[in-house]
Amino acid sequence: MTQYPIVNGELVIGGQSVSQLATELGTPFYAYARAVIDARIAHLRAALPAAIKLHYAIKANPMPSLVAHMTGLVDGLDVASGGELAVALASGMDTREISFAGPAKREPELEAAVRAGVLLNVESFREVELLATLSQRLGLPARVAVRVNPDFELKSSGMKMGGGPKPFGVDAENVPELLQRIGDLGLAFEGFHLFAGSQNLRSEAIVEAQQLSFELAVRLAAHAPAPVRTLNLGGGFGIPYFPGDAPLDLAPIGANLAALAELAKTKLPHAELVIELGRYLVGEAGVYVCRVVDRKVSRGQTFLVCDGGLHHHLAASGNFGQLIRKNYPVIIGNKAAPERTETVSVVGPLCTPLDILAERMELALALPGDLVVVFQSGAYGFSASPRDFLGHPQAKEVLL
Ligand SMILES: *Cc1c(COP(=O)(O)O)cnc(C)c1O
Repeated sequence: MTQYPIVNGELVIGGQSVSQLATELGTPFYAYARAVIDARIAHLRAALPAAIKLHYAIKANPMPSLVAHMTGLVDGLDVASGGELAVALASGMDTREISFAGPAKREPELEAAVRAGVLLNVESFREVELLATLSQRLGLPARVAVRVNPDFELKSSGMKMGGGPKPFGVDAENVPELLQRIGDLGLAFEGFHLFAGSQNLRSEAIVEAQQLSFELAVRLAAHAPAPVRTLNLGGGFGIPYFPGDAPLDLAPIGANLAALAELAKTKLPHAELVIELGRYLVGEAGVYVCRVVDRKVSRGQTFLVCDGGLHHHLAASGNFGQLIRKNYPVIIGNKAAPERTETVSVVGPLCTPLDILAERMELALALPGDLVVVFQSGAYGFSASPRDFLGHPQAKEVLL
């Protein structure tokens, strides 16, 4: 992983060697590098037209100090719960640039959002009715965009979140009726939100979904009670996790967004175009580190048994949406330029065969005390894991 230098055989994260960090923090821990996030966003901005607004979906990594760091780098934050809304409101981001999506917004969450003045991506007729009541009771406008469940899918996505029957958003064919209701109730309509899927490494699939989303929004805009001021085209930009994954090619996506921004000048003249990304911004900027506790040979297979595993990093164990378990990139961080290697499996401390961090991987020859580093761990790690399962100590998190 070229984003982290190796000095004297040690992986260096945010200017500190992995051994130094392990001594200071104790293991296991997640470390996120500001400089890697900054470089990633600069690279992305250079590939995208200036007119495109970039939002961070904080679900990917809601650590408050990391979210606060993002406010200086992106144009908005997208949240998906009242808890994430609280993190976003405390981050320093302009509240008008926060948007809130999610299929089961409860009344206190909607109220908090209206009070704060954030944009609500409404996902049902119920939400619209409730917002009208709340808005009247509070004497405050409710800013709404309609989250549309499109009539197409994002092809080759790790997770599909639109197209076909879905709990997310309102089916495109029912959106005209919802728009009518939004107009009748006098809510402040601002635009549309479409999110077709996640973890996609094929730029042609992303380009196609963005084009179809744009065309759908133009068709729906004809039914809207007010001009479209914001069109969130979603994201889905993937990162390479597994052997054979190639990084996403941004050039065709940038060219397509430039063409859409040009089209928008005539077809949606008041709209700004937004994309919302999670893992693409932060996933490669984080590592998970745990320590080898024991080294065992069982019937010819060597196991490094560690103090961390599935309970801190469900995704790396292969149990967070993967159909076939594959190894995340893993190294022995304090032996990052190894002279001797061997094929081993790295497992965690839980009494379940699901607790695997690396299966039959070639790693530096490791002993108890050595440090296992899992790359690509800046997104869907700490907050997406069953951290109380089996009652082991919690992982720490640091932003460097
Ligand atoms: C999960 C999610 C994202 C972020 O997805 P990534 O794959 O991390 O980019 C963005 N928007 C919505 C609506 C989501 O549900």
